[in-house]
Amino acid sequence: MYDYLIVGSGFFGSIFAREATDRRKKCLVIDKRDHVGGNAYSYKDSGIDIHKYGPHIFHTNNKFLWDYVNRFDNFIPYFNQGKVIYNNKLYSFPINLSTFNQLWGVTTPQEAKQTIEQKRINISNPQNLEEYVLSVVGQEVYEIFIRGYTKKQWGREPRDLPISIIKRIPIRYNFRDFSTNDIYSGVPENGYNALFNNILSNIDVELNVDYFNNKNYWNSIAKKIVYTGCIDQFFDYEYGVLEYRSIKFEQEKHYIDDYQGNAIVNYSNEEIPYTRICEHKHFLPHRQTNGITIISKEFSQEWKKGIEPYYPINDDKNNIIFKKYQEKSTKYKNLLFGGRLGEYKYYDMHQVVASSLHLSKKELT
Ligand code: UDP
Repeated sequence: MYDYLIVGSGFFGSIFAREATDRRKKCLVIDKRDHVGGNAYSYKDSGIDIHKYGPHIFHTNNKFLWDYVNRFDNFIPYFNQGKVIYNNKLYSFPINLSTFNQLWGVTTPQEAKQTIEQKRINISNPQNLEEYVLSVVGQEVYEIFIRGYTKKQWGREPRDLPISIIKRIPIRYNFRDFSTNDIYSGVPENGYNALFNNILSNIDVELNVDYFNNKNYWNSIAKKIVYTGCIDQFFDYEYGVLEYRSIKFEQEKHYIDDYQGNAIVNYSNEEIPYTRICEHKHFLPHRQTNGITIISKEFSQEWKKGIEPYYPINDDKNNIIFKKYQEKSTKYKNLLFGGRLGEYKYYDMHQVVASSLHLSKKELT
């Protein structure tokens, strides 16, 4: 008999298992995939660490969280500096003074602010992503950087999306072009696979098992269950199916040193079918893998049953449905939910780690 059955071996489940095990609880982690780590998983090909489910850069402002993940592998500092290609022209991204210089030739924060002030549209109480962006930067910047990318990424009009999605992206009137404002940012030196193997060391793990194929059995072997999958599936879609976005990846191996000169390049034209290209070797630039590189093109698609969910769609419609599931979930004292899918939240990795540690503390002390 286990104290905890943990369904899903991503950050939430693996860290809960670690914390519980360290407090002498007996845990079993199960995962339907053939590897641990959830969507953060990476593996080696030709000496390059491949982020199988899209680029994962761990970043946080919280020293405790940074030190916590560094217990399991040494994180090599990596600060993403994005690029956007629109109409074959390359821009610095997130929008910063270099971007304004590329757009309009301005060179100082004052000039950039003056230009933006002329271009922004007065919308006093923006109600959606489109209105918000227009009110902050105006039509031209919206068109070049946001409209096409967002439409492809979410399969919805930006006017039908919540503002919270775009608030992830800073706008800066200086030359700082890091994707995040966080002070710690990096990737595990030995890859996420090694990181997760270390988090889960001495913990029972069963791969290639789907909880839903034998729910009664799995429920019978543990006192409590920590479930990190889609919460709507857990309750058999009783209140309706939550919407998610999924991604299809097309991977290419090229026999050249460098394909695009950067880890991530976004393509914001609506007619280009992929959203971005990730060139994995750039996350660990100190590694020499000359003569070969691997890239992944990302094609965003609507999730349907049977394919992997990646992004919750936190609009009002879905949030109302989620609240019902959440309320229901609190009625079961032996059931705990967490993670991007369990909490239906567009979490970054550090937020998942924080959420898992929070639950661990509440549950285990
Ligand atoms: N976004 C955009 N243009 C870009 C990059 C991002 O319009 O070149 C918008 C888009 O709506 C996206 C959101 O900003 O979903 C958040 O982007 P981020 O890069 O944080 O997304 P993630 O890495 O989580 O896919």
